[in-house]
Amino acid sequence: MSDQTVRVAVAAPLRKTLHYRLPERLMTQAKIGSRLRVPLGRRTVVGYLLGFVKEETISLKEVVEVLDPAPLFGESLVPFFEWAADYYCHPIGEVIRTALPAGLGGAGREPGILKERFFFLRPLAGKPRGAKQQALVDYLRQHSGGTLEQIKGQFGEVYDSLRRLQQQGFVEESQRERQRDPFADLPAGADLPVEPSASQRSALAAVEEALDDQSFRPMLLHGVTGSGKTEVYLRSVQQVLDRGRKALVLVPEIALTPQLVGRFRARFANRNARLAVLHSGLSSGERYDSWRAVARGEIDIVIGARSAIFAPLENIGLILIDEEHDGSYKQGDGFRYHARDLALLRGKMQHATVVLGSATPALTTFYRVQKGQAAYLPLAERILGRPLPEVQLIDLTEQRPEGILAETLRLALQDNFEKGEQSLLLLNRRGFAPFLLCADCGVTIRCPNCEIALTYYQKQRLLRCNYCDFALLPPDHCPACHGCDMVPEGAGTERLEEELAALLPDAVIGRMDRDTTSRKGSHQKLIDGMSARRIDILLGTQMVAKGHDFPGVTLVGVVNADSALNFPDFRAAERTFSLLAQVAGRAGRGEQPGRVLIQTYDPGHYVLNCVAGHDYRSFYDEELNLREVLGYPPFGHLVNCLIAGNDEQRVMAAAEQLAQAWQDLANGIPVEILGPAPCPLSRLRGKWRRQILLKSTNRLALRHLLRHFDRLRKEVPAGVSALIDVDPVDMF
Ligand code: ADP
Ligand code: ZN
Repeated sequence: MSDQTVRVAVAAPLRKTLHYRLPERLMTQAKIGSRLRVPLGRRTVVGYLLGFVKEETISLKEVVEVLDPAPLFGESLVPFFEWAADYYCHPIGEVIRTALPAGLGGAGREPGILKERFFFLRPLAGKPRGAKQQALVDYLRQHSGGTLEQIKGQFGEVYDSLRRLQQQGFVEESQRERQRDPFADLPAGADLPVEPSASQRSALAAVEEALDDQSFRPMLLHGVTGSGKTEVYLRSVQQVLDRGRKALVLVPEIALTPQLVGRFRARFANRNARLAVLHSGLSSGERYDSWRAVARGEIDIVIGARSAIFAPLENIGLILIDEEHDGSYKQGDGFRYHARDLALLRGKMQHATVVLGSATPALTTFYRVQKGQAAYLPLAERILGRPLPEVQLIDLTEQRPEGILAETLRLALQDNFEKGEQSLLLLNRRGFAPFLLCADCGVTIRCPNCEIALTYYQKQRLLRCNYCDFALLPPDHCPACHGCDMVPEGAGTERLEEELAALLPDAVIGRMDRDTTSRKGSHQKLIDGMSARRIDILLGTQMVAKGHDFPGVTLVGVVNADSALNFPDFRAAERTFSLLAQVAGRAGRGEQPGRVLIQTYDPGHYVLNCVAGHDYRSFYDEELNLREVLGYPPFGHLVNCLIAGNDEQRVMAAAEQLAQAWQDLANGIPVEILGPAPCPLSRLRGKWRRQILLKSTNRLALRHLLRHFDRLRKEVPAGVSALIDVDPVDMF
């Protein structure tokens, strides 16, 4: 053997991969998917080995070392990473760094590997003396050995007996790598066997057929809230395991959906299926362990949030995306990928079935179905013939509330509490009030770093920015007119909690928002309180709308449907429809039917009427027409070019210059260049922000244009940054 040439993606902002010489001494350790240390300029950086190439090694720089004992991903992921890098216009090394568990990207060594003592029987065993020793031997035979901890768990303090068995040659001891238990903090959840309904059966039959086909088959599982999508997920996963292949399950945010993970654990824990949960709540050591267990082929089912789409699982037969419409599948900074879109790509590359599940599919997903690009698996009814909740709009122009809640909603809450049933209230604003306002001159107190009013927190007596966390003591006098009448204006969850406590002093009220759930375990406590019916009313931001299954909830109230509708974003209607349909779907999931009350100043709005009628199709048709007129997705494709910096003049100048450059490039190509315009949040965390929108019905034309971005970016002056967001979701 002699030195070889390897192709390496370095963790640096470079578009291309580089070639290095792999010295003979590292040959046995280095594999595709290995993390390496390589020289780059005068530094050494982390790189990822993507392939071996036939090329002279003489002029090449040498790989310094191999960082992990085994590769972190297999060969099949290499084209996936490369495609993603190209599509999202992002450096390949950065793509891989984002994909790997956090903490591994830098130059650091791997987190420590835990060792534990493991005891097993030697093959020559005869009969030991004494009942205790015999029992130990039997145990070790049945379980093919055990760790010291497992043995202690079974027999108590038996170290002496173990020693003696060892001395007599019955038992041997070894050091074994210990897996940290990634489940330690998650509830197990119960798994009651159910008989699938007719529509669950037909969905499962379709999945089964696709699995047998072993080719890329995208499908939309469109199940109304409470239709039993989870059971379809669980059984589909069983189907793929039965066929000797593996499953990748993506959920929006693990921390917010513990019930679903619990059900997977409960179902598969006793079926010899090895399950790994990848989520941000794990320590970096736990994440590293799970990741490597997946890479070694020891895992059959991976469940995780967005970044799990990169899990190094081989032989994937099924990729499941729960709540596929959820905005959290799109990464908002750095490598801005969309996990659902990448799932479709990965499914295609690895010949897997991809099931997208939702009660309110993304417009683009349902459009795929209509175009015949995805199969349609409907679950049109709730399980056991339970009715969808009755939805009623409360017209606030007729029924002006004294505080936050209109009469109808107050009475309904009282009534529900007296009946001993649970209620849920959605108010998508944190704090006590969104503004502190001068009653004399109307000035609000704004964040000095962001283009936004500071939120008023009454209990803490604080004004705080929800974007950058800047905080200030509330002034007694208006900074503009020195008036002394500063009033909290509008309503947040803290104020709603106060009003509810006054309305129903005997009720147990839980509040779920980012402020009450920041401490570890606090979110889980609220969920447990709801499940055990200790909490009568749960109020909160959109966190309360996430896929919870609380059978005791019969009343859902939406405090204000309008703010979300009026958001300056072309997806505002889609987001509002899905948020309201989801939160409405929390009502009446048990034996008692549910009821939903929505407060609005605009009761004629088509979004609200579609929510009230549980009518996804009408919403879809209406919204699709608007999108077509405006050339927005799914008809046109968008790329957002964001320009930001500390100096407003420089940012504006750079944005103008970039827009002109895009215009010149787009000459004769079917791409529209819009802007530059200030971002809806024109200033954020001290940075001025402008955006240029590239829009086209032709993806190839767009991608052609993006190839020039590296060159254009080089001309952006110092102190200003420019970045690209392909298929943007948030355009604040
Ligand atoms: P979705 O995710 O579609 O809103 P879930 O999967 O949470 O609905 O199911 C709603 C409830 O119905 C759960 O409590 C679940 O255990 C129950 N369920 C699901 N399938 C069946 C079935 N075939 N028979 C009886 N109950 C079922
Ligand atoms: Zn701020």
